[in-house]
Amino acid sequence: MLALFTVQAQKTYLHCGTLIDGKSNEAQSQMTIVVEGNKIIAIEKGFSKAGSSDKLIDLSKKTVMPGLIDMHVHMESETNKDQALQRFTSSEADIAFRSTVYAKKTLMAGFTTVRDLGGSGVNISLRNAIASGMVQGPRIITAGKSIATTGGHADPTNGYRKDLMGDPGPKDGVINSPEEARQAVRQRYKDGADVIKITATGGVLSIAKDGSGPQFTDEELKAIIETANDYGMHTAAHAHGAEGMKRAVIAGITTIEHGTKMDDEIMNLMKQKGTYYVPTISAGKYVAQQAKVMGYYHPLVVPKALEIGPQIQATFGKAYKAGVKIAFGTDAGVFPHGENGKEFTFMVEAGMPAMEAIKSATVVNAGVLGMADKVGTLENGKLADIVATDENPLKNIKTMESVSFVMKDGVVYKQ
Ligand SMILES: [Zn+2]
Repeated sequence: MLALFTVQAQKTYLHCGTLIDGKSNEAQSQMTIVVEGNKIIAIEKGFSKAGSSDKLIDLSKKTVMPGLIDMHVHMESETNKDQALQRFTSSEADIAFRSTVYAKKTLMAGFTTVRDLGGSGVNISLRNAIASGMVQGPRIITAGKSIATTGGHADPTNGYRKDLMGDPGPKDGVINSPEEARQAVRQRYKDGADVIKITATGGVLSIAKDGSGPQFTDEELKAIIETANDYGMHTAAHAHGAEGMKRAVIAGITTIEHGTKMDDEIMNLMKQKGTYYVPTISAGKYVAQQAKVMGYYHPLVVPKALEIGPQIQATFGKAYKAGVKIAFGTDAGVFPHGENGKEFTFMVEAGMPAMEAIKSATVVNAGVLGMADKVGTLENGKLADIVATDENPLKNIKTMESVSFVMKDGVVYKQ
């Protein structure tokens, strides 16, 4: 006679002292999250008893919340004084090895999903390596290489000696007409990008004089956004100055990055069109500070960093109060990876309540990425992306800078 055995899958019980689930505006105390495989299968009141074959993780002294999402990082690089030179000395392999270190730091800081807004394209391979489990890091949604116009903020040969500049085109992410704009988007799609990033205005760290003027025509912006949408990709625009920002919002961009000189008219337009603002206050503060270090940045960069950097936090405060939708994002890479959590402190300083700042980094960002069914809240059926802090961030937001427990996809990376 055959005996039938049902093998019970091992579950993990997480006892949570305080729970912020990403949905409710109130934290709950003494809750249990049950995880099986890579999914949350139950959330129960009180500290539920784990079965003899199950695993118990004691977070009863911690505050537990959904894995954090950063909408603006650059996984391929990290600020240093030789960055301009490294464009000539780093091979793709050098970039790839370094990116694995940055990816791990990001995950250890509690960020289980990130949107990479531009590098050389190595970020696409990094995404794949992490997704296949070969490298430890956050889940990555990537733009591959940003799209710019000739001499614009993401033209890859800015600042080169004339004979090395060449004539980068749509394949390299440089366009000068609506036709080339469409080609560049289709190339990104073919390369494996998930999102389209454009540099709608000048920028701080490019070796170019102007940090805020518009760099695309209305027709080019329309071509980019329409084509991206055809391929199911959303769009992000780096923008400091008002004119380029306004053109991008009118053309239907999904997110505005930095948004430094955002005025009342643009805030109203963004509210009408449902455009999200990704502030990157951390990057603004960091470049303003480093611009005072002699020789750290190229001489063309210093005045731009000193002008633009200090303005971003106040712009964020105004935009938040005006009711613009805020999607948490830092621009990590412009400052050291793993320090993404400082952005929470800067947001709260500028007037956003801690609960809203946490929601902007979880449920809001999951929605922008079209991943609301998988991440962003702690609910039955969602992926087990769970992080915890030693203190309650609703009482001390700085605790977000030192996340002490990280689970991604049901696997514990930090405890
Ligand atoms: Zn950036």
